[in-house]
Amino acid sequence: MQKKIIIAVDGFSSTGKSTLAKDLAKKIGYGYIDTGAMYRAVTLYFLRHETDIADETAVAEALKNIEIDFQNIDGVNTTFLNGENVEKEIRKMYVSDFVSPVAAVSAVRRAMVKLQQAMGKKKGIVMDGRDIGTVVFPEAELKIFVTSDPKTRVDRRYAELQNKGLQADYEEVAKNLRERDHIDSTRADSPLRQAEDARVLDNTALTRAGQLALAEEWVSDRIK
Ligand code: C5P
Repeated sequence: MQKKIIIAVDGFSSTGKSTLAKDLAKKIGYGYIDTGAMYRAVTLYFLRHETDIADETAVAEALKNIEIDFQNIDGVNTTFLNGENVEKEIRKMYVSDFVSPVAAVSAVRRAMVKLQQAMGKKKGIVMDGRDIGTVVFPEAELKIFVTSDPKTRVDRRYAELQNKGLQADYEEVAKNLRERDHIDSTRADSPLRQAEDARVLDNTALTRAGQLALAEEWVSDRIK
């Protein structure tokens, strides 16, 4: 049997990370973990319960009451928050607008990283996020840092929201990406950065199949 590895896929928002990570997991028979969905689910809980992120006690209490898991429903990786299917809700703009400040809270990160490390313990997973290759699995056998040009990213996120039937304004999407880029890369705890040993995949001019083929080559290199 081929050895199972951990594949970390990191990068800024809407670079096509999740598409690549999902395609790759499916192709090589690995599990897929969307860590962004976990921060989004926490954000949804905080919004619903009006949790003040500056109040450490309230945050700690809220985190104790949050259970997140994933289920495969009709082939779609689906996020559950305390047993409720929140997959669609967590993609809405009001959650996107608040997720980066929530993800910058250290107690939130500690709780999510612990969960993510447990989920990846058996290896054979592709995990996508911002700090997977640097903090969650610094020893991951393959680290991919995905990039693409800013306009392509906005176009993609806008199209994705429209395809899901979610209301979106192009300028609002562009602003949200700029703000999340800024907060995610400048926060004190686990800022988004490229791991030194990551391979950079710029998919601006690549098709979906093209980026998958490239990543597959890199996987073959690592499991040889
Ligand atoms: O991947 P996605 O865009 O859904 O992630 C939503 C937000 O969650 C990011 O903008 C970032 O603030 C946060 N995040 C994070 N660390 C991760 C994954 C996501 O801080 N590993």
